[in-house]
Amino acid sequence: MPKSTPEAASLAPDVLAKYEPVIGLEVHVQLLTRTKIFCGCSTRFGDPPNTNVCPVCLGLPGTLPVLNKRAVEMAMRASLALNCTVHDHSRFARKNYFYPDLPKGYQISQYELPLATNGHLEIEVAGLPAAAGARKRIGITRLHLEEDAAKNLHEGFSQSATKAYIDYNRCGTPLSEIVSDPDMRTPDEAYAYLTTLRQILLYTGVSDVNMEEGSLRCDANVSVRLRGAKEFGTKVEVKNLNSFRYLQKALEFEIERHIAVLESGGRIAQETRLWNQAEGHTVSMRSKEKAHDYRYFPEPDLLPVHISSAWREEARRTLPELPEAKRARFVTTYGITPDIAEVLTDTQNLANYFEASAGSADPKRVANVIANWVLARVKDKDITIDKWAELVPPSQIARIVALQSTEISTGGITISTSTAREVLGKMAETGRTADEIVAAEGLAQIDDVSAIEQAAREVIAKNPDNVAKFKSGNEGVFKFFVGQVMKATHGQANPQAVNDILRKLLS
Ligand code: ADP
Ligand code: ZN
Ligand code: MG
Repeated sequence: MPKSTPEAASLAPDVLAKYEPVIGLEVHVQLLTRTKIFCGCSTRFGDPPNTNVCPVCLGLPGTLPVLNKRAVEMAMRASLALNCTVHDHSRFARKNYFYPDLPKGYQISQYELPLATNGHLEIEVAGLPAAAGARKRIGITRLHLEEDAAKNLHEGFSQSATKAYIDYNRCGTPLSEIVSDPDMRTPDEAYAYLTTLRQILLYTGVSDVNMEEGSLRCDANVSVRLRGAKEFGTKVEVKNLNSFRYLQKALEFEIERHIAVLESGGRIAQETRLWNQAEGHTVSMRSKEKAHDYRYFPEPDLLPVHISSAWREEARRTLPELPEAKRARFVTTYGITPDIAEVLTDTQNLANYFEASAGSADPKRVANVIANWVLARVKDKDITIDKWAELVPPSQIARIVALQSTEISTGGITISTSTAREVLGKMAETGRTADEIVAAEGLAQIDDVSAIEQAAREVIAKNPDNVAKFKSGNEGVFKFFVGQVMKATHGQANPQAVNDILRKLLS
């Protein structure tokens, strides 16, 4: 049962403002190896339960683990991308506890000598002065390797569930645990840290970091202290955060709960709590006294991990360009704003699509077409940018931009902005090229002055009343004439030419 929770919402803003939250995150990511960390079983997601198992990952007596080199390499890449020191020597340890999802009775993890320590990443923080670059560095305490446990499935949704099932397919999947320093001060910063971390891991290709499928899992540690205090307050660990939003909500709730307890003269108990999304609060799971004593000791069945400097440097050399560097390069190379650069570097595939499109057209306009029109349609259609690129290859984005531009020779064809947007949509539906659609549907903008003049004369002849109004000084009527000429030309007349011609004819 939840302990009685002081009503957090009743706290006045000036009471909340007296305290400073302190947050540190522990993140587990599944590494994208084909096989498990200590045996040759497949790590494929979604296979029938208990089909990817063997005596090693089932923990049968007499079996011995063999370390998957690829898992070490991936964890090393992640460590380097996070600016960690990757140690020459690290060591596995046994973390002992009993649970049905852990057939050996211990988890092989790293404890005293982790693979990597002392890294950092930079988050963007709204509200920081621009002089500080609006960025904040968050320390990474350590990154270590461990094996995942099996997955428990319960029939029914409550304590009274009648059956529990265990799927050992996941047991032995390689994980990296990434522990941050207690450097975050708001739920927003925690959110920014997790999104930044996720993006770096995605770029590095070590994990698909999918929170829904459980390949990215996050536990949050949070405490509060009076502003200006040197010592940290007592922390609480919050588990069961299955989405970025839950993380933020759970932190907001916990911070207010801590402050309410302290304000009412109470003390925070060091404990582990669970986020209950349905009810919007955290619930005590276990107290410090009931915390596991894991009785860690060095794993006797595995040799220490040795990483040569040659191997480490090779990993460093083959790291891709990371999001932050890519954003900075886009701003300087293409002259686009940091905001648009951020949008376009969301994933490497999107960034590549932009760069391929910008090769032969004005990059700023290409950036706008992709950031606004393309991404809106990709979202509508709920497809990946790769799928989109099959329908609308980069060369066609360049063409759409060129067709709107009067400075670039387009073979005499120009289209308006609204037409360009429409053509883009049609390309995505039909896979036809921009030129095919413009030609087939007669969408080219009318620059032919005589055709526009003809239409303008007809509009004027049909509307003597409005002509009279305009001539008597009613400037507002001019818009009416422009609208009528555009209508008569099916929106294809060059708007500037329409304006010029009407001014001439009506004067
Ligand atoms: P534990 O021994 O309980 O595992 P650690 O010192 O290893 O605690 O820290 C675990 C996580 O908790 C780290 O992410 C760390 O940054 C964070 N943390 C540590 N102390 C605090 C605190 N007082 N308030 C908030 N987070 C904290
Ligand atoms: Zn196995
Ligand atoms: Mg710890």
